Amino acid sequence: MAYHKETQCIQSGWTPKNGEPRVLPIYQSTTFAYDTAQEMGDLFDLKSEGFFYSRLANPTVAAVENKISDLEGGVGALLCSSGQSATLLSIINIAHSGDHVICSSAVYGGTFNLLHKTLQEMGIEVEFVDPDISLEELHEVFRSNTRCVFSETLTNPSLVVLDIEKFAEAAHAHDVPLIVDNTFPTPINCNPFQFGADIVTHSTTKYMDGHACSLGGVVIDSGNFDWATTRKYPEFTKPDESYHGVIYAESFGKAAYIVKARTHLMRDVGAMMAPMNAFLLNLGLETLAIRMERHCSNALAIAKFLEKHPKVSWITYPDLESSPYHALAKKYMPHGSCGVISFGVKGGRDAACKFMEAMKIARIVTHVADVRTCCLHPASTTHRQMSDEQLEACGVKPDLIRFSTGIEHVDDLIADISQALKQL
Ligand SMILES: *Cc1c(COP(=O)(O)O)cnc(C)c1O
Repeated sequence: MAYHKETQCIQSGWTPKNGEPRVLPIYQSTTFAYDTAQEMGDLFDLKSEGFFYSRLANPTVAAVENKISDLEGGVGALLCSSGQSATLLSIINIAHSGDHVICSSAVYGGTFNLLHKTLQEMGIEVEFVDPDISLEELHEVFRSNTRCVFSETLTNPSLVVLDIEKFAEAAHAHDVPLIVDNTFPTPINCNPFQFGADIVTHSTTKYMDGHACSLGGVVIDSGNFDWATTRKYPEFTKPDESYHGVIYAESFGKAAYIVKARTHLMRDVGAMMAPMNAFLLNLGLETLAIRMERHCSNALAIAKFLEKHPKVSWITYPDLESSPYHALAKKYMPHGSCGVISFGVKGGRDAACKFMEAMKIARIVTHVADVRTCCLHPASTTHRQMSDEQLEACGVKPDLIRFSTGIEHVDDLIADISQALKQL
């Protein structure tokens, strides 16, 4: 039986052999030595497993990949230098020029830019759909060249909860996989594979690292999508000439997607996580389960306080019973969603900025989802490239304050919010 999440956070990934360091060591080496040219050649041909160059794999990075794969319940994971590169690789592993991708319109601003601009420039047509679209309407969006559906379990910053089963059902009816960015709930609060998602991505920069000290991203493969029987994915069933004719689905079975992402894409793109960052990420992962509990209990208390406050014009937090996403949140994230709350204050944009500047504990930062409480006004920062219509489509109101609850004592946080609201 698999261990509980709390145990996996500590014990998965690195298991020292007799006399080896108890703590995951940092293998700060780009390269690995072999006795014979044949051994090295077999590694290059993917005939044997081992480390040879840290652009493809590194023992420190691999241990953390295995821990995250365990936490999500996958067959393998690939750590990347950022969440953005994880998103990019997860899609271009299966979508190419001339293909069509469906994406929820409620996604992180950086994801929107990547798909709306860069992927379109690469010749991949991306069609955005309302996350609350009905199943019938969703079916209509698929085409013969649709290669994947991309979405976010809990969106940054609009906190829309995705109906994962609805999206998975539609995707599978059209023989394409569902890719889900699970950054905000983390594997502690939601495991999208249990609800039919095929691939999961994360920006590990957020709760997983949790201390705002290192950028990172990860792609995890459920192993559940059958690339070989649908005719849409010849990249898994036809020989890859750049690897002496390896056929991924034959040689790697359930892990075909994640092996190809590493051996083909990471080899070519090189957006690998550095060993030092993997070590820091691992420290964060060790406490992820207990941190998420505190983030969620603090955020719920603050959300309840804000909901009743006369100077607050609206609030979105899926764990509040008043939230339109409460039922979905209870289904997909029964132990709590995340520490981020979105709300507006009476007086709009200007009042939002005044409120943030009046806070003492919560500093204004671009970052979100770490141990320190922080806040941001997306419309004037992370989402400033977007038109009002685009903002509307991804659920970001012009007066939205993104409040990222840390793990400080909740009474201090509520006192700080209270004094800042008084100044309005
Ligand atoms: C931050 C974020 C990203 C991008 O990750 P980086 O590590 O900043 O590149 C992607 N998705 C979500 C949901 C995020 O919050």
